[in-house]
Amino acid sequence: MDIPYATEQQKRVVVVGAGFAGLTLAKKLSPRHFQILLLDKNNYHQFQPLLYQVATAGLEPSSISFPLRKVFQQKPNIFIRVAEVQQILPAEKAIETTIGKIDYDYLVLAHGAETNFFDNANTQHYGYSMKSVSEALLIRNTLLKNFEQALIAATEAERNALLNVVIVGGGPTGVELAGAVAEMKNKLLPKDYPELNFSAMHIYLLEAAPGLLNGMSAASSAKVTEYLKGLGVKVQIQTAVKDYDGHTVYLNNGTTLQSRCLIWAAGVKGAVIAGLPQEVLLPNKRIVVNEYNAVKGFDAVFALGDIACMVSEQNPKGHPQVAPVAIQQAQLLAVNLKRLLTQQSLLPFAYRNKGSMATVGRNLAVAELGKIKIKGFIAWMAWMFVHLMSVIGVKNRLFILINWIWQYITYDQSLRLIIKATEKKKPLICPETRKRITISAKHFTVSSNYQEILRQVQ
Ligand SMILES: Cc1cc2nc3c(=O)[nH]c(=O)nc-3n(C[C@H](O)[C@H](O)[C@H](O)COP(=O)(O)OP(=O)(O)OC[C@H]3O[C@@H](n4cnc5c(N)ncnc54)[C@H](O)[C@@H]3O)c2cc1C
Repeated sequence: MDIPYATEQQKRVVVVGAGFAGLTLAKKLSPRHFQILLLDKNNYHQFQPLLYQVATAGLEPSSISFPLRKVFQQKPNIFIRVAEVQQILPAEKAIETTIGKIDYDYLVLAHGAETNFFDNANTQHYGYSMKSVSEALLIRNTLLKNFEQALIAATEAERNALLNVVIVGGGPTGVELAGAVAEMKNKLLPKDYPELNFSAMHIYLLEAAPGLLNGMSAASSAKVTEYLKGLGVKVQIQTAVKDYDGHTVYLNNGTTLQSRCLIWAAGVKGAVIAGLPQEVLLPNKRIVVNEYNAVKGFDAVFALGDIACMVSEQNPKGHPQVAPVAIQQAQLLAVNLKRLLTQQSLLPFAYRNKGSMATVGRNLAVAELGKIKIKGFIAWMAWMFVHLMSVIGVKNRLFILINWIWQYITYDQSLRLIIKATEKKKPLICPETRKRITISAKHFTVSSNYQEILRQVQ
């Protein structure tokens, strides 16, 4: 890729992924010493912790997405390219991407994780995941479309299956999503669809472990379960999904559930990019890094955030896959890359865990900040404050705050729209001549059959 260096001493750092880690690193690296090439398959950064509010029509996608070019408007040494990285070529110090080959002095992999369906192909095919704004929008559309179809369902059983929602995974994402869908059911849907009987709608939260919120205390887990049950969510622990065919959910206890919407929030795995040796990949596809976030066996390739796994005695399974880890690792790598230039020794990573929290809905949340454990309204306020302050951009924060205040006062979300992007139809290409086939109504009046059209063209 032809991007001129500002000075001869400058080193090129290619950062793959503009999530929490990649974005923080690009912001922190000194542009005097480094030319930064930031690659992402999207032209925006997405704030994943609030995806569930997009999925339940509480927030607009644009409130939690931020254009990368706006973040770096005043930074001439940062080059942004919308591209997908396909392969790493460590021996050549280069990567293969959808926009061509790119050389690097240092490569930083910060491309995050993807949904782990644990090889259950049917569940992956028929279920929904929530790792991106696009997926959250798909869930929103599916929920709303199912309610519309429930109005015209032929049988009661079909109507109930269209109303039911099954959420798999009792971590913070599953808990937050279940609470938000329950609030929709309790406050909003009966007003929008007075013809439907929402007492027949069931929201199931399934968790394979003995309790919800695995990473938090037993007290917080019990409180969250109580909150969810109070909202009418059917919480089933020690319950795993064996299979799903788009209509029936088959459970490990031999029972079944009927639902047209199964949302999978039961785990993530590293998103694999070809080119690294197998021995640096763990079974969950996270990349093994040392205490400086250098990929095992490489001194010019680093990995940060969800994709990286820094195993130590203290953290035998690596750090939790949360935003603060990604941000703190990126902050330290910015310091360490500068130290590399001046041949200083590198500083090891130490995670400062400020606590964890989860919300279920209005006035209902739990938070653990060191030894302090809070719940209810105060925890909910703390949750809102922390999330609001973490979102990029004053305008986005303001929009989110206005939405939250509006919903608090009116019990209403105003974004219940089924919006689908229309794609332009791809041109018909003749496989032999590779020429575009133009179909005129004069010549092809009846046949829409592709083979027939080709025969006539030939
Ligand atoms: C629904 C949900 C809720 C969450 N809630 C919380 C929470 O409340 N608190 C918390 O701390 N954490 C939460 N997390 C986890 C948190 O979002 C992640 O830990 C964090 O995003 C990790 O940051 P990252 O930079 O490693 O990866 P990401 O933020 O996932 O960024 C990866 C980036 O890489 C890009 N990318 C991927 N593959 C390629 C490729 N091949 N080529 C180019 N670009 C690529 C993606 O488009 C993306 O922009 C949540 C996650 C989800 C999914």
